[in-house]
Amino acid sequence: MPTLFKYDKGIKFLKKPENLTLIADPTTVKAAENCDAALITHAHTDHSLAFPNEGIRVYSTEVSSQLFEGLTAKKTKNTRFVELNKTTNISDVEVKLIPAGHLLGAAQIVFYFDDLTICYTGDISTDEMLTVPRAAVPEDDIDILITEATYGKEDLFFDSREKIKGSILKWVAENLQMKKVPVINIGHLGAAQEIIAYLNEMLSIDIYCDNRTSEINKVYLNEGHNLQWNRFDLLNDSELKVERSIVLLPRAAKEIPEFLKSHKISRGIVTGQASRFAYSSFEQAFSFSMHANCNELLEYVKVVNPQKVYTLYGFDSDFAAIIRQKLKLFARPLKMSKNRLTLEEFL
Ligand SMILES: [Zn+2]
Ligand SMILES: [Zn+2]
Repeated sequence: MPTLFKYDKGIKFLKKPENLTLIADPTTVKAAENCDAALITHAHTDHSLAFPNEGIRVYSTEVSSQLFEGLTAKKTKNTRFVELNKTTNISDVEVKLIPAGHLLGAAQIVFYFDDLTICYTGDISTDEMLTVPRAAVPEDDIDILITEATYGKEDLFFDSREKIKGSILKWVAENLQMKKVPVINIGHLGAAQEIIAYLNEMLSIDIYCDNRTSEINKVYLNEGHNLQWNRFDLLNDSELKVERSIVLLPRAAKEIPEFLKSHKISRGIVTGQASRFAYSSFEQAFSFSMHANCNELLEYVKVVNPQKVYTLYGFDSDFAAIIRQKLKLFARPLKMSKNRLTLEEFL
């Protein structure tokens, strides 16, 4: 019997004849419950909710586990740490975690089953950035590539990351000149650290963040990223130097913190979703993303050159169609019903 795989609140792999079940990035703790082990690619909570569980063996990088704790203030349990680029055995299956870019500690997983070598990307970025390397290309021949497709649609427009960073810098400087505090909504984990690192490098200003972002920044600091920031919840208003301060808020935050209410501010948002939506309640929206865009994803698939591609997350159908058209490879969404196995096949 060949190795089987399917999407079921995570990517489930069934190794025959032993009936060994592994799950990658389960979206609930329950989804992992009947599996022999779970693997977690990175700390974003759409991938990492199985970290605090009772009794399921979880494999991840140590940094992902630390970032999860910083992000959620929950403790991880039963986790075995796996180093990047080293082969590990999980009940007879060899696996290797390789860099995914995207955020610190993020990994792609290569599974070496007897009959198939499968690579699951998790979330990837293929651009070299200040806080993350580019995603690695697996060294071995890959039979099945399961790739993310968050921005896998051709008409989503992304400028180069350097150019977007440049426009964020310009916007910040212009507002400071007008004595307005730039307030930027941005994802806690990944984008915030990349933009802090960039602004630290370019401008001598004080960056204020919330407590959660600060906990995440500490993990980056421990890993050798020299980020400089302050916590606004510890701020005494008389310390705020309005002409040289910027404030970062969680991406979904609508309310501004109390201390800002007596100052003139200007609001911006940093999110890849700005390639799709207008964000008209902000003065500026910057479509900066720690995910590969469509062209970058396509280039990555081309270089890996697998036998078959399955797409997952975001524009999975659109991206599968683009792969079929442009690379002439077998490609379909992992969640497509035709791909689902019958119960008999899976059990
Ligand atoms: Zn992610
Ligand atoms: Zn994700």
